[in-house]
Amino acid sequence: DDNQLKKIAGHAKEYGFIFQSSEIYDGLSAAYDYGQNGVELKNNIKQYWWKAMVQMNENIVGIDSSIFMHPTTWKASGHVDAFNDPMIDNKDSKKRYRADVLVEEYLDKIEAKITKEVEKAEKRFGDAFDKEQFLATNPNVLRNKEKIDEISQRLGNSLETENLADVKALIEELGIADPVSGSKNWTDVRQFNLMFSTEMGSVAEGANKIYLRPETAQGIFVNFLNVQKSGRMKVPFGIAQIGKAFRNEIIARQFIFRMREFEQMEMQFFVKPGEELTWYETWKEKRMKWHKTLGLGDENYRFHDHINLAHYANAAADIQFNFPMGFKELEGIHSRTDFDLKAHEEYSGKKLQFFDTVDNESFVPYVVETSIGLDRMFLAVLSAAYTEETLEDGSERTVLKIPAALAPYQVAILPLLKKEDSGLPQKARAILADLQFDFNCQYDEKDAIGKRYRRQDAIGTPYCVTVDHQTLEDNTVTIRDRDDLSQIRISVEELKSKLTEVTSI
Ligand code: ATP
Repeated sequence: DDNQLKKIAGHAKEYGFIFQSSEIYDGLSAAYDYGQNGVELKNNIKQYWWKAMVQMNENIVGIDSSIFMHPTTWKASGHVDAFNDPMIDNKDSKKRYRADVLVEEYLDKIEAKITKEVEKAEKRFGDAFDKEQFLATNPNVLRNKEKIDEISQRLGNSLETENLADVKALIEELGIADPVSGSKNWTDVRQFNLMFSTEMGSVAEGANKIYLRPETAQGIFVNFLNVQKSGRMKVPFGIAQIGKAFRNEIIARQFIFRMREFEQMEMQFFVKPGEELTWYETWKEKRMKWHKTLGLGDENYRFHDHINLAHYANAAADIQFNFPMGFKELEGIHSRTDFDLKAHEEYSGKKLQFFDTVDNESFVPYVVETSIGLDRMFLAVLSAAYTEETLEDGSERTVLKIPAALAPYQVAILPLLKKEDSGLPQKARAILADLQFDFNCQYDEKDAIGKRYRRQDAIGTPYCVTVDHQTLEDNTVTIRDRDDLSQIRISVEELKSKLTEVTSI
């Protein structure tokens, strides 16, 4: 719920993960800064993605293209003409909304009714409850499901045919009210282009209007031949990229879920025409497996297949994650056909084709794309990790159960005493020096040990190594496990291999 999201945002701020942009000037909406712990987690997520996509696939390579691109790029890609969201204002509250989101939130409410119905029946029937059967036969559920289908079909059709009057009619027929004021006094629905523009070159020399890229994908498409030729790549092959993207979202709420400046991790996979749907299925499965391997809970993921396809796609699905606000898109897998490469051929006048030496023919490859928002992935990790617990001794703690491989710090080195003459700080620093190159370590000697453990819990450090008097005698330390609070004693020589073992995925 919203409360949970607020708690997570509060924790993220208090512990140096995420700050509102320009906070001292009361903030800039939908822009966020990653703090000292946030940047570590973010870098680890990037690395986890890059390793899985680039390092582990011999036919996928990476690039880093510029944010500014020739303005014709966005003409060819369709973004100048069609990268719009339908916007609507409430005449009484003067609040602005995305018309499609208003309808979708209405659908979420119907969905919630179905969930409630199921929960009620579950209670009533206990162990004898057959959920599948119930969903397939209960008249209330069926009626609501039908309603959802009808409304989403109509919304999809209206958006696709740009019948904005019908989108408004739908909002009125459903009786959707402004969530803030309760008013149903709506303006017409208008299209709103999401691209930010700026000028390149000084005005005196005749400036050119250019755009901040709204997706990283086009930087890959325009470099298709550069990479293919210089890397001697053979279809099927992929190009991956991590980078910033900018969208002037009409409404930007829900913390880092929807930002105006955000980061994407995208991979475009070039295949032979006709083979795209097989590859689409392959990438859907591979990407779902990647998510589940992380251990945030298999039940938190689901596919959502698109019924209404974008102009460039012949198949598309989202991987949704169970965020505090419910199941929402985390990643998109799209079969983009040859739409982009063909369009760039047409607008640039350059061929963007692959010569297949086996069949002795040239073709414009089809593309299967995987596209995930880095910040959304960050929010997924953070919200799955955030836990408030009461311990056996009755004390409470807030702990981030971040997967060990992604945690900002893998280990904290804590001398039991801070006094130099105890010899413990010197020993602890020697251990730190030995681990620091291979692991991101924290060193903390301030306050009682229990308090230091809590601080590490709050930033998600999976292991605490405590150096005590016994360490000086037999060269052993305790390792405390963040999640089950167990403490084991091991020798200092074993530390590195132990940490390597427990922090790898
Ligand atoms: P949405 O429907 O949520 O607006 P989208 O379908 O427009 O997203 P895509 O264009 O497919 O998104 O972009 C791919 C990925 O980029 C999304 O799955 C999401 O994780 C991320 N993303 C898109 N827009 C934003 C944003 N404004 N803030 C943060 N991440 C975003």
